[in-house]
Amino acid sequence: MRVKDILNEKENSILLYLPGKNRGIVVGVPHHAPQEVLVLPNQEHPVSDENAGFIGATLAHLLNCPVIIACNYFMDVNKHRTSDYYKRIQSLEPTILVEIHGHSRNKARFDIEISPGSLKRNTWSLALAARLKEKLVNEPLLQDYTISGDFSKIYFQATRTLTITSPDWIAFHIELPRPMRASSEQYLLFCKNLAGVLKEILAELGELEHLPDQSAG
Ligand SMILES: [Zn+2]
Repeated sequence: MRVKDILNEKENSILLYLPGKNRGIVVGVPHHAPQEVLVLPNQEHPVSDENAGFIGATLAHLLNCPVIIACNYFMDVNKHRTSDYYKRIQSLEPTILVEIHGHSRNKARFDIEISPGSLKRNTWSLALAARLKEKLVNEPLLQDYTISGDFSKIYFQATRTLTITSPDWIAFHIELPRPMRASSEQYLLFCKNLAGVLKEILAELGELEHLPDQSAG
């Protein structure tokens, strides 16, 4: 089965794992469902993050890093340390975990919200959001989206999300708006810019040795 077919699967629950050479960073997508599939088969987290899996897979491809995507999943995988999703992330021992989510309701205070999971790790998400904002202002398709990585200002703080609050890695919980998730043109641009910023951060942490050459895109 091709990755695209798995991500478009509407009925079965599948945990998709795609390996990558750069083990410093891992991408996770816990609530993926295909476009127009709004409901997940679990009562803990019934609302899907439509299309988020495509974004996670694209980002991981650009970073040449592992990605784990829970598709139409029967449990809320990032709230339980016993989940196969959590255990897979743990086994990879990443320096950075990037989790891709989607919001569709009016609760978010910014179009793009980045949470580190707690106020004490706010400097990480503030830095990522500031660098990303600098790049997105140069992208006509994305420059109108508001963005914040300020734990005290965002709505989606992810304080109960165990993959994000774990002390074992630096975590970024990224919430993306529906119009961006619905447009492959927009999310590809977003992923290119986010991958660029993450490569900068990984380089500063001394974790860039396995990444492909920057000039190769
Ligand atoms: Zn989510």
